[in-house]
Amino acid sequence: MSVLPGSTIGILGGGQLGRMLALAARRLGYYVVTLDPTPNSPCGQVADEQIMAKFEDVTAALLLAEKTDVITYEFENIPAEVVAAIEARGKPIFPSSEFLKVSQNRVSEKEFFKRIGVPVVDYHAVSSEKDLEDAAVRIGFPAVLKTASGGYDGKGQAIVDNLDQARAVFKEMQGTQLVWEKKIPFLKEISVICARNSGGEIVSYPVSENVHVHNILHTAVVPAKIPVESAKAARDIAERVAVSMKVVGVFCVEMFLMDDGSVYANEIAPRPHNSGHYSIDACVCSQFEQQLRAICGLPLGSTKMVFPAAAMANILGEGKGNTLSGVEEVLKNPDLRLHLYGKSEARAKRKMGHLTSLANDADAALSLVVAEKKKLAWV
Ligand code: ADP
Ligand code: MG
Repeated sequence: MSVLPGSTIGILGGGQLGRMLALAARRLGYYVVTLDPTPNSPCGQVADEQIMAKFEDVTAALLLAEKTDVITYEFENIPAEVVAAIEARGKPIFPSSEFLKVSQNRVSEKEFFKRIGVPVVDYHAVSSEKDLEDAAVRIGFPAVLKTASGGYDGKGQAIVDNLDQARAVFKEMQGTQLVWEKKIPFLKEISVICARNSGGEIVSYPVSENVHVHNILHTAVVPAKIPVESAKAARDIAERVAVSMKVVGVFCVEMFLMDDGSVYANEIAPRPHNSGHYSIDACVCSQFEQQLRAICGLPLGSTKMVFPAAAMANILGEGKGNTLSGVEEVLKNPDLRLHLYGKSEARAKRKMGHLTSLANDADAALSLVVAEKKKLAWV
């Protein structure tokens, strides 16, 4: 059964992803209630109501369920039990707690990829010193050690070149489960955003080519400059995830492209993704409207680009001032769109907004956005 305009959407999490979903929902005539511990959150600012509560607060989550017709989340570290509690009440919440759980743990994520025949980088789950030694022998160095759960934007991650370093990391992480991954010389990082609705309709967006700086997404360019077969393989991977998990909602698969054109899946984000922000300005239907349509059981929108190419650069806080200078300068360029998330404190590395450029080809889009972003600074 569809949830039609005039109904109320619940969003667990009040960050920028929730904000951009709320804006899409409002445009289609929905009401929005968000739940977030911080008053006046980016999503709360544009929602009809914000419930101020911690993400672990089941009672508050059930209150959100009472006030709304369908719920989603914009943050993958929402406890899966909270999502399950809403499911148990019989209130629709998407994606399912099962999908959330798989994406919250790197070991289960990789096991899932392997089960559905998607290649992943060689890895070893580490819960003890013995596992650590086995991983060193079986996979070797250099390696990337990642906490199995809770990590994002490179947090909870270290590169190690020998067993002593690996032991030190394991000790520092106080024995939490780790994943030992071979550090691979990938050619490019790419991602695919995919959506599926309850009717089983599936769409995927063009492959994005992503550059990370200090493990945080720096730029994303679409369409990715990669071989056609690799792009097809990448989209197939995302769609295979959608089919095999019967996902309802929007999710992203981050992947590595190798020299020989082969593609490894890295991780799943069970929500819209930073690399898909360009879709607001460059696609018929943005990833956020798509998320809304998917969770509401509406027909999915077109993922077609309305411009040949687009590029996005993140605007991060610098830990200096909280005023963004250069805005007027940047807006002089008619092929740019500026998005700011309403965060008052521009703490270092905090995602404050993004800039999207539209152009005739990927190279032009990227050089434009990179050049223009240099004009912005926090003062
Ligand atoms: P998260 O985004 O959750 O912090 P990722 O697994 O995406 O974790 O890792 C962050 C970044 O670290 C990746 O985007 C990539 O640049 C780099 N990285 C991760 N795993 C590997 C690997 N096995 N080999 C080489 N680089 C990696
Ligand atoms: Mg990542």
